[in-house]
Amino acid sequence: TTFDVTCSKVQTDLGTGVLVCFEDVTHLEKAGQMRRDFVANVSHELRTPLTALMGFIETLQGPAKGDPAATERFLGIMAGEAARMERLVQDLLSLSRVEADERVRPTEPLDLGALLKSVVHSIRPLAEEASVEIAMTLPEEGVTIPADDDQVRQVFTNLIENAIKYGGADKTVHVTLRTQDHAPSLRGPGAVVEVRDEGPGIDAIHIPRLTERFYRVDSHRSREMGGTGLGLAIVKHIVSRHRGRLRIESEPGQGSTFRVILPRLPQT
Ligand code: ADP
Repeated sequence: TTFDVTCSKVQTDLGTGVLVCFEDVTHLEKAGQMRRDFVANVSHELRTPLTALMGFIETLQGPAKGDPAATERFLGIMAGEAARMERLVQDLLSLSRVEADERVRPTEPLDLGALLKSVVHSIRPLAEEASVEIAMTLPEEGVTIPADDDQVRQVFTNLIENAIKYGGADKTVHVTLRTQDHAPSLRGPGAVVEVRDEGPGIDAIHIPRLTERFYRVDSHRSREMGGTGLGLAIVKHIVSRHRGRLRIESEPGQGSTFRVILPRLPQT
């Protein structure tokens, strides 16, 4: 614990005294440390592709100059590194945008079933490329939530993309929407979306840390798959802005379930 201590001389009915104030500033210390860690992480994440890019540029200007096969190959790798930097910058912008308006609650009614269908439709080509099936189960009735359309779209895009990436080939990703008349964690009507994969699962010690920025179970694997390590941090902030809850359940060998519970508008 860190205290700020201030002393001042005071005059009271009983005479002159000294007033000593102890202010607990542990939270400020912590916030400062988190900011410093974040900047260090961002610099590291940007520097890795940048170093690779600079190395290839040097090679193309020197030893590989005029070699069409090497040029073609290196340009391909350079395009991949540049795309990685672009994804990182995009995710950083999303995160800062979500944090900036976290206290302003979204109010626009959104048809959650229609949104999920549209997200799955856009992700299908990626799933096909990875030989992954997406099975969707929606209730018959419409489910409306107060929401920011783009942000909710990002939540389910990130979760389904992760399920495809980490779930593995020749498996199925299950996307299910159901309603709860009384969601205990929300103390009111809820919409529950589950994204379940049949992958290797996640060890329990990692689960509480998955939504931290840049936390990865296997950073090499995540990077190889184009991950920035920010996807679940963005999900957590968006869900929290919508007054929702994110639950992660997983057991090694049993796949993982990412459950998002959002407040629902009364049926009209
Ligand atoms: P990344 O860009 O690395 O995918 P995320 O924030 O989306 O970053 O996820 C953080 C980490 O959580 C990943 O690096 C991965 O180790 C783990 N993870 C996320 N989703 C899954 C999943 N469906 N199955 C197994 N591990 C997962």
